[in-house]
Amino acid sequence: MKMRVGQGFDIHRFSDDPERRLVLGGVHFEGERGLVGHSDADVAAHAVADALLGAAGLGDIGEHFPDTDPQWKGVDSLVIVRHVAALVRAEGWTIGNVDCAIVCEAPKLAPRKPEMQRLLSEAAGAPVTVKGRRAEGLGTLGRREGIAGWAVAVIHAD
Ligand code: MG
Repeated sequence: MKMRVGQGFDIHRFSDDPERRLVLGGVHFEGERGLVGHSDADVAAHAVADALLGAAGLGDIGEHFPDTDPQWKGVDSLVIVRHVAALVRAEGWTIGNVDCAIVCEAPKLAPRKPEMQRLLSEAAGAPVTVKGRRAEGLGTLGRREGIAGWAVAVIHAD
């Protein structure tokens, strides 16, 4: 059996635009400050998509979904994960699982974790786990300037 691993990282800064919604793992966090981005700026979904692309050697999210392309403006990033998972499968790979960490001081992620995991898993067509971490006040994430996501994906082919 052939196996590959891929890692993904994404970071977006908080927006001053009160119209921007905060979306993480496909879940809308009502009343929370949104993130700046061409799409919905979902760092969890973007990290998951990049990990999958990396595992399959298919480049990165910026190549597939350029932020200059109006087609992807404001897009629900679960659509990106679904699209990327289909690309990976089209190359003959089976997605094993993806593990994602979201790092921020706020909001509290734990109450919405099951929902994020369900939505991301549905989009990827494989188990996606989500972990929330605080930045312990350190650096740009600790100063609440933005939110970052890391993900690792395993894919295999028989
Ligand atoms: Mg992004």
